[in-house]
Amino acid sequence: MTIKELREKYLSGETTPEEVIQASFDNIKAKNEEIHAYLHIYEEAVEEANSASKELQTKGGEAAPLAGIPIAIKNNVLIKGKKATGSSKILENYTATYSATIIKKLKAAGAIIIGSTNMDEFAMGSSTENSAFGPSKNPIDTARVPGGSSGGSAAAVAMGSVPVAIGTDTGGSIRQPASYCGLVGFKPTYGAVSRYGLMAMGSSLDQAGPLTNSVADAELVHNTMAGKDSYDMTTIDDDTYPKVEKKEQYKIGVPRDFLSEGVDEDVLEAFEDHLETLREAGHEVVDVSLPLFAKGLAAYYIVMPAEVSSNLARYDGIRYGLSVDGEDLLAVYENTRAEGFGEEVKRRILLGTYVLSSGYYDAYYGKAETVRQMMRIELDKVFDDVDIIATPTTPTPAFKFGEKEDPLSMYRQDIFTVPVNLTGVPAISIPATTVERDGKNLPVGVQYIAPHAGEVRLFDLGKKMHDKA
Ligand code: GLN
Repeated sequence: MTIKELREKYLSGETTPEEVIQASFDNIKAKNEEIHAYLHIYEEAVEEANSASKELQTKGGEAAPLAGIPIAIKNNVLIKGKKATGSSKILENYTATYSATIIKKLKAAGAIIIGSTNMDEFAMGSSTENSAFGPSKNPIDTARVPGGSSGGSAAAVAMGSVPVAIGTDTGGSIRQPASYCGLVGFKPTYGAVSRYGLMAMGSSLDQAGPLTNSVADAELVHNTMAGKDSYDMTTIDDDTYPKVEKKEQYKIGVPRDFLSEGVDEDVLEAFEDHLETLREAGHEVVDVSLPLFAKGLAAYYIVMPAEVSSNLARYDGIRYGLSVDGEDLLAVYENTRAEGFGEEVKRRILLGTYVLSSGYYDAYYGKAETVRQMMRIELDKVFDDVDIIATPTTPTPAFKFGEKEDPLSMYRQDIFTVPVNLTGVPAISIPATTVERDGKNLPVGVQYIAPHAGEVRLFDLGKKMHDKA
């Protein structure tokens, strides 16, 4: 069910938050052992359902917009008093001492947090196979990954336990799992949503956003979370950017030069079909050229590890979580990090330390930042001409466990999503169609990208094409 449908049923008295929270818990009981979407469940949701019920009864349509709506939260978002692990062994027993701004906002809007979800360790990955606590499975085909790094959040929605889950997106981690699980996934403009209380991965790239069953729900939840926050200096005032207006008909750019190599044929066909539907709906579809987007992956895998290496320096065995003894202080650092971090996290810390080191800074990090700047300029130019850019969300549908053991083949899954984070613009993935693999219909997503602060356009076109509203 969508949030909107639930709300209507609450208001008409057809169901109650108590019943819905109970149904969520029943769903989790029946399915989580296999799917492993959730790491922790919060029993107090039952009491919160009681107060939500009362609020809905007394206030009716005036009740808080998310009153009684169950929601799941990726476990790299801090909730005061709850374990915040980032799916890492190093934080296995770490309890958050404060709540993220987005948690406060969601709660203030009436949402009921029913549990926290599994993810790739510190949000590094595309499959949840990097979780220290074991992977999540794709509810559509359990032989396949749900995507990552917000794979637990995607699985939680796809298995029917919640209408919405929160993920974080540094290079595609909301949009890619949404695509693999047949959901809507939204990555806001950089700075639209506060990062206060999110475990930092790549601070200049990270944003939190919703995974939902409809675009209208994504819009509602995003608007609940967005806004200037004095605890995050990178959050933007509404008037910082020129207003991007929605339109009746959009001019949609397709970066053809970017769609060639390595994209699954069925995915390409699904994408072409979607373009046809856009045309039929009266939108104009034109080719655009974004040659630098092809360099996005290379730039991302320098900028992101550089920021990772710096951000993860805080896990030193002294300040948070795991602490492994050693002869002296240096040995404590080394032992804790050797034992606490998984392979992929270590790989990125090493890469990042390397590209930031004095002899290589100019050759790698400096260059990648230049490419990033040029990508922004290139993109701005294209947006002078078109309203929205469309690409497939991922080059393939959900893959099988163990299929991408070579890190580079895993990184390639991000080819269409990382340019969006590097340039800071918003993007949404909506389910386009399904393709058959091994007798299962696997979802394939399409990504719309808008200019800075152009979320209204994404929600508008998304609702027209997906929600049929
Ligand atoms: N899959 C990408 C990575 O491994 C994106 C991760 C993310 O968005 N958190 O870096």
